[in-house]
Amino acid sequence: MARVYNFSAGPSCLPEEVLNACAAEMMDYNGTGQSVMEMSHRSKAYEPIIQDAEAMVRKLMNVPDNYKVLFVQGGGSTQFAMVAENLGIHTGKAAYIETGVWAKKAAAEAKKLGVDVDIIASSKDKNYSYIPKVEKIEGNYDYAYICFNNTIMGTHYEYIPDTGKIPLVADISSCVLSEPLDVSKFGLLFAGAQKNLAPAGVTLVIIREDLICEPEACRAGTPTMLCYKTHADNDSMYNTPPCYTIYVLGKVLHWIEANGGAEGMLKRNKEKADYLYNYLDNNEGNFYHATTEVGSRSLMNVPFLTKYSTGATDEASVAKEKEINDKFVKEAAAAGLVNLKGHRLVGGMRASIYNAMTLDGVKALVEFMKKFAKENA
Ligand SMILES: *Cc1c(COP(=O)(O)O)cnc(C)c1O
Repeated sequence: MARVYNFSAGPSCLPEEVLNACAAEMMDYNGTGQSVMEMSHRSKAYEPIIQDAEAMVRKLMNVPDNYKVLFVQGGGSTQFAMVAENLGIHTGKAAYIETGVWAKKAAAEAKKLGVDVDIIASSKDKNYSYIPKVEKIEGNYDYAYICFNNTIMGTHYEYIPDTGKIPLVADISSCVLSEPLDVSKFGLLFAGAQKNLAPAGVTLVIIREDLICEPEACRAGTPTMLCYKTHADNDSMYNTPPCYTIYVLGKVLHWIEANGGAEGMLKRNKEKADYLYNYLDNNEGNFYHATTEVGSRSLMNVPFLTKYSTGATDEASVAKEKEINDKFVKEAAAAGLVNLKGHRLVGGMRASIYNAMTLDGVKALVEFMKKFAKENA
């Protein structure tokens, strides 16, 4: 069976080289006569796998020595709570920039756990189609929080806010290793793996050591598993880690290294994103348009609408818009281009073009879009 081009927002496509390498080792990993799926996490065969994954994160992201690299579970969403429980403990106040669903959820979770949340900026006024400019963050905050790439809205920070002594926390779930990033500018970074790193099941956390508090110092009632110290003190092996996912993650990191590291990914991703945005901005008759503002555009997630998305709310217009979107998604899938349905909060379509997506895949998408525009003008 032929493989499709998968534009899913997550879990998302993985490099074929990685999938093939996993398949080749499925029945017998490195002469052990077992699959990595079947191994004890405490075994001699498994230990080097998780150690190598951590070493590769450190290498590719240039992680300074005073940061811990952790592999935890619970996805990006659990980090919304862990950040609040572990960091919101001195003044009990935190600053959040609201740039869409994931930032809002993080702020709501912190609030629920008793943190005094200040929404210091928001792009809600234009349906989160841009990133607010907040060059400097000041105040007696325990931490400041941003979502660096907004998977649903398709926006991305082109700057890092200056927070002085306030630790900056960033959700990089959908842009981790898509570009070089200066880790030293952040107190804590986290990324659910299923967008750019691995299958679902592991979350990468990079935390400055001085922000790791004793479990008793976390907010009252914080479960053991939600204390960063629990994981830091046990090399991410306090309990059973998602062994196989971490193994695949290691393979993806070696693939990234072989393709030029973070710099190589940026070059590759810019090429793909430029190709798609160029078409969206310059297509004949403006059949399609991007929903995000120049200067805030994600290289990873590209939402777009057709000319039938007019904003009109009468029944006929809404029905026509839905008909065209459904037709696009259906015909694209038949052409081997899958998971292009837009998120309901933006509408239209969304192409997620993570590291593993090829330029050929993006070109095939644009060719399809041209044909569809002609047929439905
Ligand atoms: C997908 C995503 C999340 C949620 O991740 P889960 O692992 O499903 O909890 C959080 N933040 C961003 C930016 C995401 O893209």
